[in-house]
Amino acid sequence: MDGIDTPRTQANLVLLGPPGAGKGTQARMLEEKFGLVQLSTGDLLRAAVKAGTEAGLQAKAVMEAGDLVSDEIVIAILRDRLAEPDCANGVILDGFPRTTVQAEALDGLMEDMGADIRVAISLEVDDAAMVTRISGRFTCAGCGEGYHDTFKTPAVDGTCDKCGGTEMTRRADDNAETVESRLRAYHAQTAPLIDYYDGKGVLARVDAMRDIDAVAQALTAVVREAVA
Ligand code: ADP
Ligand code: ADP
Ligand code: ZN
Repeated sequence: MDGIDTPRTQANLVLLGPPGAGKGTQARMLEEKFGLVQLSTGDLLRAAVKAGTEAGLQAKAVMEAGDLVSDEIVIAILRDRLAEPDCANGVILDGFPRTTVQAEALDGLMEDMGADIRVAISLEVDDAAMVTRISGRFTCAGCGEGYHDTFKTPAVDGTCDKCGGTEMTRRADDNAETVESRLRAYHAQTAPLIDYYDGKGVLARVDAMRDIDAVAQALTAVVREAVA
């Protein structure tokens, strides 16, 4: 297809970074550019909560408190989603893995599929920026496009640039109290994965303090090289 650098072999990417780093925003960009599928465990969990599944019922209160959902639940949800045929070209993992147990489980899933994690990209932002990003975040209910009160406003106020939808939603957990525990969970449980992937020789770091377009450019260069 024109304009899409579809990888020749299955290329799976991991996006690491604290809440609000821009993982979802950049994953959508990479999805379009490289023909990969974005897999956000946060989105999968929110869908499970909405659908009222067993996993969703267990995850709801944990997510509202800003803690991590159990490895068992998240790994099961991810394993099922990875088995779907649209993942065959490769996926961009957004928000997974978040613990060492999840990273090891992911290695096992990749091995079973005869695939690998081509690159794990750490989006580096400081804690203060993360609070500002999260508190201004909203999303189109129709297509999932992400926006921000200050940094990414729709061209027409209240109307989605992508799909023309007019229903915008804000996440229940994007509030000042929850941000604290999410940040704590990130530093305690997820940040060690930067060393985990560095040790495997697949880590790339991207300065995510710059504006959305500058980060997108840096990421595109990293991914282009990784999937070449
Ligand atoms: P994550 O998926 O890592 O939690 P998002 O992609 O949802 O983060 O981004 C969080 C918020 O910050 C969104 O409102 C998004 O529009 C905005 N945002 C994303 N990247 C940047 C950036 N580089 N500069 C400023 N705002 C950003
Ligand atoms: P953000 O990157 O903005 O924190 P996500 O949508 O990735 O948001 O995650 C929202 C919430 O969903 C997390 O605070 C956590 O409760 C749960 N969650 C998402 N992914 C995972 C995961 N891999 N492991 C455990 N909990 C997860
Ligand atoms: Zn939309």
